[in-house]
Amino acid sequence: MQRIAVLGSTGSIGTNCLDVIAALPDQMDLRSVTAHARWESLGTQTRRFAPRWAVVSDPALRHVVSREAFSPATELLFGPEGIEQVAGDPEVHTVVSGIVGAAGLRGAWVALEAGKKVCFANKETLVVAGPLMTRLARRTGAPLIPVDSEHSAIFQALHCGRRCEVRRVVLTSSGGPFRGWTDQQLQTVTPEMALAHPTWNMGRKISIDSATMMNKALEVVEAKWLFDLEIDQIEVVVHPQSIVHSFVEFVDGSVIAQLSPPDMKLPIQYALTYPERVPGPSPRLDWSRRFQLEFEPPDFERFPALQLGFETARRGGTCGAVLNAANEAAVERFLANDLSFCDIPRACRAVLDAHTFDPTPTLTDLIRQDARAREEIKRWK
Ligand code: MG
Repeated sequence: MQRIAVLGSTGSIGTNCLDVIAALPDQMDLRSVTAHARWESLGTQTRRFAPRWAVVSDPALRHVVSREAFSPATELLFGPEGIEQVAGDPEVHTVVSGIVGAAGLRGAWVALEAGKKVCFANKETLVVAGPLMTRLARRTGAPLIPVDSEHSAIFQALHCGRRCEVRRVVLTSSGGPFRGWTDQQLQTVTPEMALAHPTWNMGRKISIDSATMMNKALEVVEAKWLFDLEIDQIEVVVHPQSIVHSFVEFVDGSVIAQLSPPDMKLPIQYALTYPERVPGPSPRLDWSRRFQLEFEPPDFERFPALQLGFETARRGGTCGAVLNAANEAAVERFLANDLSFCDIPRACRAVLDAHTFDPTPTLTDLIRQDARAREEIKRWK
Protein backbone atom coordinates (compact mmCIF):
# COMPACT_ATOMS: atom_id res chain seq x y z
CA MET A 1 0.00 0.00 0.00
CA GLN A 2 1.46 3.31 -1.13
CA ARG A 3 0.67 6.17 1.27
CA ILE A 4 0.35 9.45 -0.61
CA ALA A 5 0.32 13.15 0.28
CA VAL A 6 -1.25 15.36 -2.37
CA LEU A 7 -0.09 18.97 -2.11
CA GLY A 8 -2.57 21.20 -3.93
CA SER A 9 -5.37 18.63 -3.89
CA THR A 10 -8.21 20.97 -4.94
CA GLY A 11 -6.50 22.15 -8.14
CA SER A 12 -6.69 20.56 -11.57
CA ILE A 13 -3.78 18.15 -10.94
CA GLY A 14 -4.96 17.42 -7.40
CA THR A 15 -8.53 16.48 -8.33
CA ASN A 16 -7.29 14.26 -11.19
CA CYS A 17 -4.85 12.66 -8.77
CA LEU A 18 -7.62 11.89 -6.28
CA ASP A 19 -9.62 10.25 -9.08
CA VAL A 20 -6.63 8.01 -9.84
CA ILE A 21 -6.20 7.14 -6.15
CA ALA A 22 -9.93 6.38 -5.86
CA ALA A 23 -9.69 4.04 -8.86
CA LEU A 24 -6.80 2.06 -7.33
CA PRO A 25 -8.00 1.50 -3.73
CA ASP A 26 -5.97 -1.72 -3.22
CA GLN A 27 -2.70 0.01 -4.03
CA MET A 28 -3.03 3.58 -2.85
CA ASP A 29 -3.95 5.28 0.39
CA LEU A 30 -4.49 9.04 0.55
CA ARG A 31 -2.72 10.18 3.70
CA SER A 32 -3.02 13.97 3.38
CA VAL A 33 -4.52 16.72 1.27
CA THR A 34 -3.73 20.44 1.14
CA ALA A 35 -5.32 23.56 -0.35
CA HIS A 36 -4.45 27.23 -0.16
CA ALA A 37 -7.89 28.79 0.18
CA ARG A 38 -10.54 26.38 -1.18
CA TRP A 39 -11.29 24.83 2.20
CA GLU A 40 -14.86 23.79 1.32
CA SER A 41 -13.61 21.59 -1.53
CA LEU A 42 -10.88 20.32 0.78
CA GLY A 43 -13.51 19.42 3.37
CA THR A 44 -15.49 17.48 0.73
CA GLN A 45 -12.32 15.58 -0.20
CA THR A 46 -11.75 14.58 3.44
CA ARG A 47 -15.31 13.28 3.67
CA ARG A 48 -14.68 11.15 0.57
CA PHE A 49 -11.23 9.77 1.54
CA ALA A 50 -10.90 10.30 5.32
CA PRO A 51 -7.18 11.20 5.15
CA ARG A 52 -5.15 11.61 8.36
CA TRP A 53 -4.35 15.29 7.67
CA ALA A 54 -5.78 18.25 5.78
CA VAL A 55 -3.90 21.53 5.47
CA VAL A 56 -5.31 24.97 4.67
CA SER A 57 -2.11 26.80 3.81
CA ASP A 58 -3.56 30.32 4.03
CA PRO A 59 -3.15 31.03 7.78
CA ALA A 60 -5.68 33.88 7.61
CA LEU A 61 -8.44 31.29 7.13
CA ARG A 62 -7.91 29.70 10.53
CA HIS A 63 -10.92 31.52 11.98
CA VAL A 64 -13.08 31.23 8.87
CA VAL A 65 -12.93 27.49 8.23
CA SER A 66 -15.80 25.43 9.59
CA ARG A 67 -14.66 22.18 11.26
CA GLU A 68 -17.99 20.54 10.33
CA ALA A 69 -17.00 20.65 6.65
CA PHE A 70 -14.27 18.06 7.33
CA SER A 71 -14.26 14.36 8.09
CA PRO A 72 -14.05 13.69 11.87
CA ALA A 73 -11.17 11.31 11.06
CA THR A 74 -9.08 14.14 9.64
CA GLU A 75 -6.88 16.48 11.64
CA LEU A 76 -6.78 20.05 10.37
CA LEU A 77 -3.56 22.10 10.06
CA PHE A 78 -2.99 25.68 8.94
CA GLY A 79 -0.26 27.68 7.25
CA PRO A 80 2.84 26.77 5.21
CA GLU A 81 4.21 24.83 8.24
CA GLY A 82 1.30 22.44 7.77
CA ILE A 83 2.42 21.75 4.20
CA GLU A 84 5.94 21.04 5.41
CA GLN A 85 4.63 18.73 8.11
CA VAL A 86 2.61 16.56 5.72
CA ALA A 87 5.36 16.61 3.04
CA GLY A 88 7.86 15.27 5.58
CA ASP A 89 5.41 12.88 7.31
CA PRO A 90 7.40 9.68 8.07
CA GLU A 91 4.34 7.56 7.20
CA VAL A 92 4.18 8.91 3.64
CA HIS A 93 5.93 7.18 0.71
CA THR A 94 4.97 9.53 -2.10
CA VAL A 95 4.35 13.26 -2.34
CA VAL A 96 2.47 14.68 -5.30
CA SER A 97 3.59 18.27 -5.76
CA GLY A 98 0.64 19.95 -7.43
CA ILE A 99 0.74 23.44 -5.92
CA VAL A 100 0.67 26.05 -8.67
CA GLY A 101 3.53 28.51 -8.91
CA ALA A 102 6.54 29.19 -6.74
CA ALA A 103 4.42 28.50 -3.62
CA GLY A 104 5.02 24.79 -4.21
CA LEU A 105 8.73 25.04 -3.59
CA ARG A 106 8.89 24.44 0.16
CA GLY A 107 6.74 21.32 0.22
CA ALA A 108 8.69 19.73 -2.63
CA TRP A 109 11.97 20.63 -0.93
CA VAL A 110 10.97 19.00 2.38
CA ALA A 111 9.76 15.86 0.59
CA LEU A 112 13.00 15.49 -1.40
CA GLU A 113 15.04 16.13 1.72
CA ALA A 114 13.18 13.28 3.44
CA GLY A 115 14.03 11.01 0.47
CA LYS A 116 10.40 10.51 -0.59
CA LYS A 117 9.28 9.79 -4.12
CA VAL A 118 8.13 13.13 -5.48
CA CYS A 119 5.69 13.21 -8.38
CA PHE A 120 6.36 16.62 -9.84
CA ALA A 121 3.35 18.38 -11.35
CA ASN A 122 4.64 21.78 -10.36
CA LYS A 123 6.95 22.86 -13.16
CA GLU A 124 7.53 26.24 -11.54
CA THR A 125 9.50 24.59 -8.74
CA LEU A 126 11.97 23.16 -11.24
CA VAL A 127 12.09 26.39 -13.23
CA VAL A 128 12.92 28.39 -10.10
CA ALA A 129 15.34 25.99 -8.46
CA GLY A 130 16.00 23.14 -10.92
CA PRO A 131 19.70 22.58 -10.19
CA LEU A 132 19.17 22.76 -6.40
CA MET A 133 16.19 20.39 -6.55
CA THR A 134 17.83 17.77 -8.78
CA ARG A 135 21.04 17.91 -6.71
CA LEU A 136 19.03 17.43 -3.51
CA ALA A 137 17.17 14.47 -5.07
CA ARG A 138 20.47 12.86 -6.07
CA ARG A 139 21.91 13.38 -2.59
CA THR A 140 18.96 11.85 -0.72
CA GLY A 141 18.15 9.26 -3.40
CA ALA A 142 14.60 10.62 -3.71
CA PRO A 143 13.04 9.53 -7.03
CA LEU A 144 11.84 12.61 -8.91
CA ILE A 145 9.12 11.55 -11.37
CA PRO A 146 7.60 14.09 -13.78
CA VAL A 147 3.83 14.45 -14.02
CA ASP A 148 3.75 17.19 -16.67
CA SER A 149 2.43 15.29 -19.72
CA GLU A 150 5.36 16.27 -21.97
CA HIS A 151 7.99 15.34 -19.40
CA SER A 152 6.21 12.12 -18.55
CA ALA A 153 6.32 11.26 -22.26
CA ILE A 154 10.04 12.04 -22.45
CA PHE A 155 10.69 10.12 -19.22
CA GLN A 156 8.94 7.09 -20.74
CA ALA A 157 10.64 7.39 -24.14
CA LEU A 158 14.09 7.72 -22.53
CA HIS A 159 13.73 4.12 -21.34
CA CYS A 160 14.29 3.02 -24.97
CA GLY A 161 17.99 3.86 -25.05
CA ARG A 162 21.00 4.96 -23.08
CA ARG A 163 21.48 8.60 -22.18
CA CYS A 164 24.54 8.95 -24.45
CA GLU A 165 22.35 7.74 -27.34
CA VAL A 166 19.89 10.66 -27.07
CA ARG A 167 20.21 13.22 -29.84
CA ARG A 168 17.39 15.50 -28.70
CA VAL A 169 14.03 15.71 -27.03
CA VAL A 170 11.11 17.40 -28.74
CA LEU A 171 8.38 18.94 -26.59
CA THR A 172 4.98 19.13 -28.25
CA SER A 173 2.71 22.10 -27.71
CA SER A 174 -0.95 22.47 -28.67
CA GLY A 175 -0.10 26.01 -29.76
CA GLY A 176 -2.83 27.28 -27.44
CA PRO A 177 -6.13 28.94 -28.41
CA PHE A 178 -4.45 31.64 -30.55
CA ARG A 179 -2.35 29.51 -32.87
CA GLY A 180 -2.15 31.18 -36.28
CA TRP A 181 -3.48 34.53 -35.02
CA THR A 182 -2.08 37.81 -36.37
CA ASP A 183 -0.47 40.55 -34.26
CA GLN A 184 -3.65 42.63 -34.60
CA GLN A 185 -5.85 39.77 -33.41
CA LEU A 186 -3.56 39.10 -30.46
CA GLN A 187 -4.03 42.73 -29.32
CA THR A 188 -7.72 41.98 -28.74
CA VAL A 189 -7.30 38.97 -26.44
CA THR A 190 -9.25 39.16 -23.16
CA PRO A 191 -8.82 36.92 -20.08
CA GLU A 192 -12.05 35.07 -20.99
CA MET A 193 -10.70 34.24 -24.46
CA ALA A 194 -7.34 33.11 -23.08
CA LEU A 195 -8.96 30.89 -20.44
CA ALA A 196 -10.76 28.77 -23.07
CA HIS A 197 -8.18 26.16 -24.13
CA PRO A 198 -8.95 24.01 -27.20
CA THR A 199 -7.66 20.61 -25.98
CA TRP A 200 -6.74 20.74 -22.28
CA ASN A 201 -9.02 21.52 -19.33
CA MET A 202 -6.71 23.15 -16.76
CA GLY A 203 -6.39 25.72 -14.01
CA ARG A 204 -6.45 29.48 -14.72
CA LYS A 205 -2.75 30.25 -14.46
CA ILE A 206 -1.63 27.40 -16.71
CA SER A 207 -4.39 28.20 -19.24
CA ILE A 208 -3.02 31.72 -19.65
CA ASP A 209 0.54 30.35 -19.83
CA SER A 210 -0.61 28.00 -22.52
CA ALA A 211 -2.12 30.87 -24.51
CA THR A 212 1.08 32.95 -24.36
CA MET A 213 3.19 29.79 -24.84
CA MET A 214 4.96 30.71 -21.60
CA ASN A 215 3.88 27.25 -20.44
CA LYS A 216 6.10 25.71 -23.12
CA ALA A 217 8.88 28.14 -22.25
CA LEU A 218 8.76 26.97 -18.62
CA GLU A 219 8.65 23.36 -19.82
CA VAL A 220 11.85 23.88 -21.83
CA VAL A 221 13.57 24.96 -18.60
CA GLU A 222 11.94 22.11 -16.70
CA ALA A 223 13.20 19.57 -19.28
CA LYS A 224 16.71 20.96 -19.16
CA TRP A 225 17.03 20.41 -15.39
CA LEU A 226 14.97 17.26 -15.12
CA PHE A 227 16.84 15.38 -17.86
CA ASP A 228 20.18 17.18 -17.64
CA LEU A 229 20.15 18.24 -21.31
CA GLU A 230 22.15 20.73 -23.33
CA ILE A 231 20.02 23.57 -24.64
CA ASP A 232 20.55 22.53 -28.28
CA GLN A 233 19.12 19.11 -27.39
CA ILE A 234 15.66 20.62 -26.72
CA GLU A 235 13.15 21.56 -29.38
CA VAL A 236 9.50 22.55 -29.47
CA VAL A 237 6.99 21.55 -32.12
CA VAL A 238 3.34 22.59 -32.34
CA HIS A 239 0.92 19.65 -32.41
CA PRO A 240 -2.67 20.93 -32.16
CA GLN A 241 -4.32 17.59 -31.31
CA SER A 242 -2.32 17.12 -28.06
CA ILE A 243 -2.14 13.35 -28.53
CA VAL A 244 1.60 12.92 -29.04
CA HIS A 245 2.82 14.22 -25.69
CA SER A 246 6.48 14.61 -26.71
CA PHE A 247 9.21 12.47 -28.19
CA VAL A 248 12.87 11.56 -27.99
CA GLU A 249 15.11 11.27 -31.01
CA PHE A 250 18.05 8.89 -30.63
CA VAL A 251 21.40 9.12 -32.44
CA ASP A 252 20.42 6.46 -35.01
CA GLY A 253 17.44 8.59 -36.10
CA SER A 254 14.75 6.59 -34.28
CA VAL A 255 12.02 8.71 -32.72
CA ILE A 256 10.16 7.27 -29.72
CA ALA A 257 6.94 9.06 -28.76
CA GLN A 258 4.22 8.57 -26.14
CA LEU A 259 0.58 8.93 -27.25
CA SER A 260 -2.69 9.12 -25.32
CA PRO A 261 -5.77 11.36 -25.22
CA PRO A 262 -5.17 14.74 -23.58
CA ASP A 263 -6.01 13.83 -19.97
CA MET A 264 -3.78 14.26 -16.93
CA LYS A 265 -4.90 11.07 -15.19
CA LEU A 266 -2.47 8.92 -17.21
CA PRO A 267 0.76 10.84 -16.47
CA ILE A 268 -0.33 11.14 -12.81
CA GLN A 269 -1.03 7.41 -12.57
CA TYR A 270 2.22 6.51 -14.33
CA ALA A 271 4.18 8.64 -11.87
CA LEU A 272 2.38 7.00 -8.92
CA THR A 273 2.79 3.40 -10.13
CA TYR A 274 6.22 3.76 -11.79
CA PRO A 275 8.02 1.52 -12.67
CA GLU A 276 4.86 -0.56 -13.03
CA ARG A 277 1.89 -0.04 -15.35
CA VAL A 278 -1.60 -0.96 -14.18
CA PRO A 279 -5.12 -0.61 -15.66
CA GLY A 280 -6.64 2.68 -14.53
CA PRO A 281 -9.31 5.30 -15.19
CA SER A 282 -7.60 7.13 -18.10
CA PRO A 283 -9.41 7.45 -21.44
CA ARG A 284 -8.10 5.40 -24.41
CA LEU A 285 -7.34 6.32 -27.99
CA ASP A 286 -10.00 5.05 -30.38
CA TRP A 287 -8.20 3.52 -33.36
CA SER A 288 -11.44 2.52 -35.07
CA ARG A 289 -12.13 6.07 -36.23
CA ARG A 290 -10.14 8.21 -38.64
CA PHE A 291 -8.04 10.99 -37.14
CA GLN A 292 -4.99 13.01 -38.06
CA LEU A 293 -1.93 14.16 -36.21
CA GLU A 294 -0.37 17.44 -37.39
CA PHE A 295 2.96 19.03 -36.58
CA GLU A 296 4.28 22.51 -37.39
CA PRO A 297 7.12 24.73 -36.17
CA PRO A 298 6.25 27.24 -33.43
CA ASP A 299 5.88 30.95 -34.23
CA PHE A 300 8.60 32.62 -32.13
CA GLU A 301 7.60 36.10 -33.36
CA ARG A 302 3.91 35.97 -32.36
CA PHE A 303 4.75 34.11 -29.13
CA PRO A 304 7.97 35.73 -27.83
CA ALA A 305 7.59 33.99 -24.44
CA LEU A 306 9.05 30.87 -26.03
CA GLN A 307 12.35 32.62 -26.72
CA LEU A 308 12.49 33.67 -23.06
CA GLY A 309 12.28 30.01 -22.09
CA PHE A 310 15.22 28.99 -24.27
CA GLU A 311 17.28 31.94 -23.01
CA THR A 312 16.47 31.13 -19.40
CA ALA A 313 17.40 27.48 -19.88
CA ARG A 314 20.68 28.49 -21.52
CA ARG A 315 21.71 31.06 -18.87
CA GLY A 316 20.44 29.19 -15.80
CA GLY A 317 21.32 30.78 -12.44
CA THR A 318 18.73 33.28 -11.26
CA CYS A 319 16.95 33.55 -14.64
CA GLY A 320 14.43 30.79 -13.92
CA ALA A 321 13.29 32.35 -10.64
CA VAL A 322 12.99 35.79 -12.23
CA LEU A 323 11.15 34.67 -15.35
CA ASN A 324 8.77 32.51 -13.36
CA ALA A 325 7.95 35.18 -10.76
CA ALA A 326 7.62 37.90 -13.39
CA ASN A 327 5.24 35.70 -15.36
CA GLU A 328 3.08 34.79 -12.35
CA ALA A 329 2.72 38.45 -11.42
CA ALA A 330 2.08 39.50 -15.02
CA VAL A 331 -0.61 36.82 -15.43
CA GLU A 332 -2.31 38.13 -12.27
CA ARG A 333 -2.32 41.65 -13.72
CA PHE A 334 -3.67 40.34 -17.04
CA LEU A 335 -6.48 38.45 -15.27
CA ALA A 336 -7.33 41.67 -13.41
CA ASN A 337 -7.54 43.49 -16.78
CA ASP A 338 -4.58 45.60 -15.75
CA LEU A 339 -2.20 44.38 -18.48
CA SER A 340 -2.80 43.39 -22.09
CA PHE A 341 -2.17 39.88 -23.38
CA CYS A 342 0.85 40.98 -25.47
CA ASP A 343 2.26 42.85 -22.46
CA ILE A 344 2.81 39.60 -20.53
CA PRO A 345 5.98 38.51 -22.42
CA ARG A 346 7.05 42.17 -22.81
CA ALA A 347 6.96 42.78 -19.07
CA CYS A 348 8.74 39.48 -18.40
CA ARG A 349 11.46 40.37 -20.90
CA ALA A 350 12.00 43.79 -19.27
CA VAL A 351 12.29 42.37 -15.75
CA LEU A 352 14.51 39.47 -16.85
CA ASP A 353 16.90 41.77 -18.74
CA ALA A 354 17.13 44.25 -15.86
CA HIS A 355 17.79 41.80 -13.02
CA THR A 356 21.18 41.26 -11.38
CA PHE A 357 22.23 37.89 -12.73
CA ASP A 358 23.86 35.38 -10.42
CA PRO A 359 25.04 32.08 -12.00
CA THR A 360 25.10 30.06 -8.73
CA PRO A 361 22.37 31.32 -6.39
CA THR A 362 21.33 29.71 -3.10
CA LEU A 363 17.69 28.98 -2.29
CA THR A 364 17.57 32.20 -0.23
CA ASP A 365 18.92 34.20 -3.19
CA LEU A 366 16.26 32.69 -5.43
CA ILE A 367 13.44 33.51 -3.02
CA ARG A 368 14.73 37.10 -2.81
CA GLN A 369 14.93 37.41 -6.62
CA ASP A 370 11.43 35.96 -6.86
CA ALA A 371 10.03 38.65 -4.55
CA ARG A 372 11.91 41.43 -6.34
CA ALA A 373 10.66 40.34 -9.78
CA ARG A 374 7.06 40.40 -8.52
CA GLU A 375 7.54 43.96 -7.25
CA GLU A 376 9.05 45.01 -10.58
CA ILE A 377 6.07 43.64 -12.49
CA LYS A 378 3.63 45.52 -10.25
CA ARG A 379 5.40 48.76 -11.25
CA TRP A 380 5.86 47.88 -14.94
CA LYS A 381 3.99 50.11 -17.43
MG1 MG B 1 2.62 20.27 -19.97
